[in-house]
Amino acid sequence: MGNLPILKDLVVDMNPFWSKIRAMKPWVEPGYEEYPEGGEYRYSQEQMNPIHKEALCIMCGCCVSECNSMEADPEFLGPAALAKGFRFVGDPRDTEKIERLELYNSEHGIWDCTRCYFCNERCPKGVDPRDAIAKLGAESVKEGIDRDLGAKHAKWFVRSAMTTGWLRETELVPKTQGLVEAMKQTKFAISLARRGKVPIPFPPHVAKNVREARALRDLVRTQGRDGALGHVQGERALARIEHTEEGGAQRDAPAVTPGEKPPVAEG
Ligand code: SF4
Ligand code: SF4
Repeated sequence: MGNLPILKDLVVDMNPFWSKIRAMKPWVEPGYEEYPEGGEYRYSQEQMNPIHKEALCIMCGCCVSECNSMEADPEFLGPAALAKGFRFVGDPRDTEKIERLELYNSEHGIWDCTRCYFCNERCPKGVDPRDAIAKLGAESVKEGIDRDLGAKHAKWFVRSAMTTGWLRETELVPKTQGLVEAMKQTKFAISLARRGKVPIPFPPHVAKNVREARALRDLVRTQGRDGALGHVQGERALARIEHTEEGGAQRDAPAVTPGEKPPVAEG
């Protein structure tokens, strides 16, 4: 296992792994003291689907072993812990979404991921931890938790696409870091400009079909797919839920790829 202290041949210290999982507060905070009459609160499979993939995690640590960001910063919360975090942020029973998002937005949190996607590639259960981190980012921005430079950077991409249909690169640094910090980088900016790498921002270059970008944003909003719901859940993971005639659902039914015929039962 990479990114964990080696104790001896083939044995690593898993304490850093578990301490990050614990830091996520990995339990549901239901926000009630008393059970309702009848003894239980009931939730439908559809309500639980948004966290189906994240709930498949078996805590094997393969994603942590491959994480580039953890290699550079061992304090980074990492893909397994953050996927666990989304499992609770997206849980309809939990009442501490904002507190959780504040926690996961702290130093060494979601915005330190480099988006290398190695964790998605390595995960044996299809959890796609990088996607879970993206969902946490989207939920944070939706809830106005956007103090981190990473959040500001992401917001500028959207704003830029909305207004011109392009990424306005020259304005990216001041919009992300603020004018004062941007001015400290003037020397670097001049050397880039000399090499023709700083497009002149005015007048802004507007794409011919910029209306399509705006229409897409409006569609996402009217469909209520801003935030985590804008991220498509893996079809393979969802296909593992087998809905029964009784209205219940069976977890981990054999995976069927949409478009393929399901296996025919013998006999
Ligand atoms: S995508 Fe992010 S969390 Fe996943 S391995 Fe890369 S840096 Fe780590
Ligand atoms: S590789 Fe997948 S199953 Fe293993 S800890 Fe990471 S997210 Fe969980």
